[in-house]
Amino acid sequence: MRKGSIAENLNSVAARIVAACRAFDRDPDAVTLLAVSKTKPAADLRAAYCAGQRHFGENYLQEALEKQSALADLDIVWHFIGPLQSNKSRDVAEHFHWMHTVDRLKIARRLSEQRPAGLPPLNICLQVNIDDEERKSGVAPAELPALAAKVAELPNLRLRGLMAIPAVRGPGADQRDPFLQMAALLKELKAQLPEQPLDTLSMGMSGDMEAAIASGATIVRIGTDIFGARK
Ligand SMILES: *Cc1c(COP(=O)(O)O)cnc(C)c1O
Repeated sequence: MRKGSIAENLNSVAARIVAACRAFDRDPDAVTLLAVSKTKPAADLRAAYCAGQRHFGENYLQEALEKQSALADLDIVWHFIGPLQSNKSRDVAEHFHWMHTVDRLKIARRLSEQRPAGLPPLNICLQVNIDDEERKSGVAPAELPALAAKVAELPNLRLRGLMAIPAVRGPGADQRDPFLQMAALLKELKAQLPEQPLDTLSMGMSGDMEAAIASGATIVRIGTDIFGARK
């Protein structure tokens, strides 16, 4: 990646999204850019905001809460995309608009119970362990229908869709395979739960954004290509 300012980087990522949408017959308005700002200072988020960015993703709660207070004057849409211990769920329920990494009912129940009454329901993506990797979080595809049915019943959550972090394929393999599996899972979920607003596939990062867009991603989560490498 060429090293530019955050505004320049945002422009080039936006251009890549438009180009990928054009190449794969997608509407660019159907793909939301989520700027992943973990480990980056609040000033970097402010710079991105001034360049027009509104959706930000954070992985670590304490760090996220500090940036949220520093940026309280901005109308940012906050997405939590990191692993969450259940004893920390209240902070997500109270301070975020979206939560992408729900993979068990216990967390979902707590988020629904702890969502403050004055706020709209918390938008939820269920994280799927699409490559069945031992070290990765996420519900197994076979267990997804049962989990989704239970989450859909929780009053203060809106079940929006699915999220995944697939393994990186080697050369010669098609990086689209896991993303297409995700799209198929979302389609099955829509048939299972027709009442739910299931419109979201949160997938694609700096290295595999185009493959994700080709396969139907509606939120791409981009860190490095906007803010530069992390330490
Ligand atoms: C860090 C992170 C990203 C962004 O990754 P980049 O390769 O820096 O674009 C996306 N999604 C999740 C869940 C992350 O933790």
